[in-house]
Amino acid sequence: MANLEIKHAEKYYGNFHALKNISVSIEDGEFVVLVGPSGCGKSTLLRMIAGLEEISGGDVVIGDRVVSELPAKERDIAMVFQNYALYPHMTVEQNMGFALKLRRMPKTEIETRIRRAAEILGLGALLGRYPRQLSGGQRQRVAMGRAIVRDPSVFLFDEPLSNLDAKLRVQMRAEIKQLHQRLKTTTVYVTHDQVEAMTMADRIVVLRDGVVEQIGTPLELYDNPANEFVAGFMGSPAMNFVRGELTENGFRTSDGIILPYGAGSRTAVTYGVRPEHLKVDPDGVPFTVSVIEPMGSETQVIGTIGTQNVTALFRERIPLSPGEIIRLRPMVTNVHLFDGGGRRAA
Ligand code: ATP
Repeated sequence: MANLEIKHAEKYYGNFHALKNISVSIEDGEFVVLVGPSGCGKSTLLRMIAGLEEISGGDVVIGDRVVSELPAKERDIAMVFQNYALYPHMTVEQNMGFALKLRRMPKTEIETRIRRAAEILGLGALLGRYPRQLSGGQRQRVAMGRAIVRDPSVFLFDEPLSNLDAKLRVQMRAEIKQLHQRLKTTTVYVTHDQVEAMTMADRIVVLRDGVVEQIGTPLELYDNPANEFVAGFMGSPAMNFVRGELTENGFRTSDGIILPYGAGSRTAVTYGVRPEHLKVDPDGVPFTVSVIEPMGSETQVIGTIGTQNVTALFRERIPLSPGEIIRLRPMVTNVHLFDGGGRRAA
């Protein structure tokens, strides 16, 4: 195990500046998720940590070693890929032991490590099978097993659950988290899925266009997003953004509707409120219902306040029909205000 530090990392592909001055400090044993939309640079950053991609500037430090110039195999990391990258002609056992065999580890030690990993991952009965004889979830477990047997300082995961169906993804998410709680190996995990990021991470790094937008625990990012981008990216259904301006009496939407706020700055032009922070209240503002999406445990209601689209989320079952007008009140302590540049204004 080791801490991992990325110091002022830069990446250029020709003239294209893919990563810009990235600094992230990861504690020994921490589970950090890199998240962001497609093309933000998260895989590039992970591959730079792994040594699969050259670093154009800055440094990667693992433990007390600067590894920026070291080849991948000397960095003491193990990586799990989206496509598992298992050898089709090798059994589960051979796949798991291959890297150790290459390193000429004694046979008995290899067997011990495989047995231990198989036990942790529930693969004991499958050691003699070939990858083609396994389900997607089992293949993913073998890929993790192959990483575990190496007992590395750092685990790197690159979208490992993308090829699994929704239900299995949720199950494997919990398994990886459990695995981390057991092994406590420093982990960096890449995903574009903010739910995966929220549910798995000790801390999340949000990237956009090669820049770190915010670093924090899942709830820090959810409750105190640094800017409109993070506010909109974290959370499903996404935060509502209503355009307008701040006045003495409240936030006046572009339709002239007054929304309440706690404390605010004059520069605010966007009013952000999460769907679950809108309450039905006779003193609220008119909300015209257009679509009702019952999900059982909660109901998502899409509609408009004035001309602006707004989504509300209710735990309680409220009888509603399209076209109906109800009154909603934003909970002022959960309102976020942003300025014209998308920065937090209050
Ligand atoms: P995705 O979720 O789609 O995989 P990502 O956030 O992982 O996206 P990267 O694969 O890291 O994104 O790519 C970051 C940027 O760098 C993208 O704009 C991509 O087009 C560019 N890029 C990646 N690899 C290369 C390369 N070999 N040559 C040139 N540009 C590249």
